[in-house]
Amino acid sequence: MNRFEYIRAESVTEAATEMARPGSVLLAAGTNLLDLMKVDVLRPKRLIDITHLPDLDRIETMEDGSVRIGAMVRNSDLAFDETFAAAFPAVAEALLSGASPQLRNAATVGGNLLQRTRCRYFYDTASACNKRAPGAGCDAIDGENRGHAILGWSTHCIATHPSDFCVALAAFDATVEIESANDWRCVPLADFHRLPGDDPGNETVLAPGELIVAVRLPAKSAAFAGHARYLKVRERTSYAFALVSAAAGLDFADDGTIRAARIALGGVAPKPWRAEAAEAMLVGGVASPELFAEAGRSALADAEPSGDNAYKIELTQRVVARVLANAAAGTPDTMPALPASPFAPVSGGPVHA
Ligand code: SF4
Repeated sequence: MNRFEYIRAESVTEAATEMARPGSVLLAAGTNLLDLMKVDVLRPKRLIDITHLPDLDRIETMEDGSVRIGAMVRNSDLAFDETFAAAFPAVAEALLSGASPQLRNAATVGGNLLQRTRCRYFYDTASACNKRAPGAGCDAIDGENRGHAILGWSTHCIATHPSDFCVALAAFDATVEIESANDWRCVPLADFHRLPGDDPGNETVLAPGELIVAVRLPAKSAAFAGHARYLKVRERTSYAFALVSAAAGLDFADDGTIRAARIALGGVAPKPWRAEAAEAMLVGGVASPELFAEAGRSALADAEPSGDNAYKIELTQRVVARVLANAAAGTPDTMPALPASPFAPVSGGPVHA
């Protein structure tokens, strides 16, 4: 590991000021950062430790009914916050579908948004990777790519975003609070991550000197609480990143028709992928396997294999149809489920893998 400077920030302003210096990276739980440093993918000049900053570890209900989650809130603490899980059950379910209990106890909300792809070529410094070394090429394109993207990829990078949490946040209209030494701004989570284009190393809208201080979920998204689920398909249920995942929420009118729908996809694109066309075609419909299958096809209308991964298109269509059926059956009484299983019956009951 390279030598680096360590700075324990005493305020957000100090952390932001340090982050404006080239070569600075934030240290929160470090669950992804330290791995990247150990394999020499990241060689920061200084680590800015924000674990002791006050007020970033709170979950607050604001006057407008939105929930504000500090960037240092641990994944497990958020998932098991009863008020939060009742209002946003699919978000809690997504949190508990990610990583292992030990990692969830450490990993933070802000760090989850900023985690890097798990493309194996990105972690192997002997491989060509445009994300790690701009202009070097991409060994994934002609390599092992069955887990790579089918939406939003470019000829410069076909990697996927690994988060479960961000998928549910995108579905339910979360926003990200960003602070610098002199400014504050709020961006939709759906716009926070960038597509790779010809610059795959530039992954988010964060500018030098900016850091995430909180994530917000709007009060209106709690309208989906009765019919909201997350579903993840992976190669090992115990612990693996998603091959494909989906978050869904349905809001029903009194006559039983669908008044509003939310769908976002994970494991298929370089960012959490909101499926707005599929949401729109559900509105006014009556829940049925046929309607949900049509929504699945709509959500994948623009999908293209980036390699040996054409199977992901039909798999994702099926996952969308399934998560919508799960959502229509109703959010289980006991939430969050541990963890979501694609093999469980569509019963609305607790799901245990
Ligand atoms: Fe690097 Fe992206 Fe290619 Fe993976 S897919 S090797 S992260 S450029």
